[in-house]
Amino acid sequence: MRIDLHTHSAVSDGTDTPAELARAAKAAGLDVFALTDHDTFDGLDEAAAEAGKLGVRLIRGVEWSTSVGRRSVHLLGYGLDEENPEVLAELARIREGREDRLRPVLAKLAALGYELSEEQVRAQVGVSPSVGRPHIADALVEAGYLPNRNAVFDQLLYDGGPADVPRYTTPLETAIELISAAGGSSVLAHPWGRGRRAQLPPDYLTKLVNDHGLDGVEVDHQDHDEATRAELRELATRLGAVLTGGSDYHGTGKVDHDLGCNLTSEDMLARLVPRS
Ligand code: AMP
Ligand code: ZN
Ligand code: FE
Ligand code: FE
Repeated sequence: MRIDLHTHSAVSDGTDTPAELARAAKAAGLDVFALTDHDTFDGLDEAAAEAGKLGVRLIRGVEWSTSVGRRSVHLLGYGLDEENPEVLAELARIREGREDRLRPVLAKLAALGYELSEEQVRAQVGVSPSVGRPHIADALVEAGYLPNRNAVFDQLLYDGGPADVPRYTTPLETAIELISAAGGSSVLAHPWGRGRRAQLPPDYLTKLVNDHGLDGVEVDHQDHDEATRAELRELATRLGAVLTGGSDYHGTGKVDHDLGCNLTSEDMLARLVPRS
């Protein structure tokens, strides 16, 4: 069984439509894939319809923007009630925060010599219900300022970078509890990637599992090197947490994140999303 529990479509900052993503999952030999767009469920019905035709199983999910202190932390949610009013209100609040941040980011960019209009950014957003930093990055690339998304993040848009502007995100512990209350499972996405270990040290991960109901940890992710994976695997196992792996596929929006490059076992999936 090939199971990939972390992917994005153009409904957030990936480049495939949800139907294209389902076809790509089939072509990559996946039996199961989760669509986990940032802060929205909007792509799930389209992905489910196409996956159903192809005989691929879709796990309905979301990647929730949360924070620990001032640092951004991503939380994967699976199988939650997509009509839950608290969940919907919170996700809407996050998407509005992304929208409100656009103008201040453009002002910072202009002050740094990168003139970019709102329209140039909108042209990159497509069907996504919110404007992410990756779309701003794409607009800078399209305008010829920098060669690719990564270069933009490395120079300008990284957390706390010269053109970054903080936005509203849900406190991590609140998001974990909202997912549980909505009947879903929560998995910390790439917890020790990009220097996040300082915000999520082992004793805090222990508390999240034992006191807040965090269900799992994404161990196998491209932002984790082998040593990090080994250490996280040992810790998550000791905590009795579910261990997952995912590609964090973004279509052409992210290199080295091919569908199926990291996988989750059948046993672990069954613990996360019990099948009726
Ligand atoms: P936003 O949610 O609009 O604040 O943008 C966050 C998204 O930008 C993340 O989901 C990543 O896909 C991407 N991202 C964040 N930091 C980096 C980075 N340092 N390099 C490349 N992409 C990044
Ligand atoms: Zn993304
Ligand atoms: Fe993420
Ligand atoms: Fe992701």
